Amino acid sequence: MGEQFDLIVIGGGPGGYVAAIKGAQQGLRVALVEEGELGGTCLNRGCIPTKTLMHAAFLYQEMKEAAELGIYAEGLRYDLSALYQRKETVVQELREGVSGLLRANGIQCYEGRGYLSAADTVVLSGTEEVTLHASRILLAVGAKPQRPPIPGMELPGVLTSDEILHSPPTACQHLAILGGGVIGCELASVYGALGCEVTILEAAERILPLADREISQNLTMILKKRGVSIRTGCLVEEIKPRGDGLSLTGNDKTGVCTIACDHLLVSVGRKANCEGLWNPSLGIETASGGIVVNAQFETSVPGVFAIGDCVAGSQQLAHVASAQADHVVAGMMGKKPEKNLAYVPSCLYTNPEIAWVGLSADEAKKQGIEVKTSKYLMSGNGKSLLEGQERGFIKLVVDAKTETLLGAQLMCGRATELIAGITSAIACACKAEDLASVIYPHPSFSEGLGEALEDLFGGAVHVAPKRKRN
Ligand SMILES: Cc1cc2nc3c(=O)[nH]c(=O)nc-3n(C[C@H](O)[C@H](O)[C@H](O)COP(=O)(O)OP(=O)(O)OC[C@H]3O[C@@H](n4cnc5c(N)ncnc54)[C@H](O)[C@@H]3O)c2cc1C
Repeated sequence: MGEQFDLIVIGGGPGGYVAAIKGAQQGLRVALVEEGELGGTCLNRGCIPTKTLMHAAFLYQEMKEAAELGIYAEGLRYDLSALYQRKETVVQELREGVSGLLRANGIQCYEGRGYLSAADTVVLSGTEEVTLHASRILLAVGAKPQRPPIPGMELPGVLTSDEILHSPPTACQHLAILGGGVIGCELASVYGALGCEVTILEAAERILPLADREISQNLTMILKKRGVSIRTGCLVEEIKPRGDGLSLTGNDKTGVCTIACDHLLVSVGRKANCEGLWNPSLGIETASGGIVVNAQFETSVPGVFAIGDCVAGSQQLAHVASAQADHVVAGMMGKKPEKNLAYVPSCLYTNPEIAWVGLSADEAKKQGIEVKTSKYLMSGNGKSLLEGQERGFIKLVVDAKTETLLGAQLMCGRATELIAGITSAIACACKAEDLASVIYPHPSFSEGLGEALEDLFGGAVHVAPKRKRN
């Protein structure tokens, strides 16, 4: 016998804790099982730690360059341990917030590792063994960093994002980063801004291979200008110890290459935490290590659901996990979900920020959709200039027939904020003309959006006409 619930959630990340609260809001008796810390990857070793460190690193960089503004910061220095301490303070405060919300919603939290022994039973191995039952069980166990099978991967100095975010790497003069995806580029920006030599090693022909080509080209230029080396088409084949650091050998376009560094950050993808999670006799279907679910996020076993990073093919983002939490609970209750899962904004908190949503022009073309596009260069935007922002742009993709907004790619100040409004406009099938009719405040980055919209109709003021008017 064990305690009976309406819903048991395994995993307290942005998928699991949001689902637990949504369930409680619907009147369900909910148990939440977490083996680590509440808030999951996002709060403890993902979104919040990276952005806290980025905030400090960018402020340091700005202050170093502040003489241009007439501000002289003499004797400027940073203490990496203090930066990490502040990161920990922010994380702890938010974690306490999550814990308080779970308590306030009457959710029973259990510390320990959950194991699905039957379709309605979770056995908890922690300080003591506890058995819990429910007719609905939600797996929201997230993912962990992958280490590719390269000889030397286990050497000291080879770090995953979990490790580099946990404590500062000691005496780091040169950080090599394996993988130029979002995590690799964000951490390159942090350590680059702090004055560390950084080399990104990316196997694909460009960093951010999943982003719009122009975004990755621009970010490449900006990072290089700031001293980050980027080697694309580069396959690392061996890691060896070298003095106090490491020596990497691989191949790139130029042939065999050797790189000496103090530490190697490995950011080549994340693998679902499914190992030993369920009784094999349950036969939960998986694909490429992730859990297979249907449109209601139910696994191949009725009554067992999965959301977030542990789902096969899921976009591994915190807001995706939370939106899926809303969907799965609404489905359990036979209700209409609040969230529209069709449009997911993707963001990079680099300097300048990057964000995109919906279709790019190339994607629309591949789908056979005839589009109109516009591109506004932020060099004509007052707010960008007064804040000393790097080269940036706002690109829009509009359905040529219906004139509804289909997608946007942004590289500019506050792009990660602007994208929320654009996502709403796309989800509500807003017409570009209606969006262009709105007054955008001056001076603001959003004026650039207004200009990009006007440019679709040839009416942007701060864009030189394609042909000189007589
Ligand atoms: C460096 C980095 C930066 C990131 N930055 C961003 C960002 O800026 N924006 C963004 O949207 N996303 C970001 N992400 C991704 C984001 O963190 C994840 O997509 C998100 O945390 C997934 O939520 P989840 O609930 O599915 O899983 P998780 O957050 O991983 O939570 C899963 C939880 O389950 C627990 N667990 C696992 N197995 C068990 C078990 N058997 N029993 C009990 N508990 C268990 C784990 O301890 C964990 O707490 C980042 C990720 C990383 C690594």
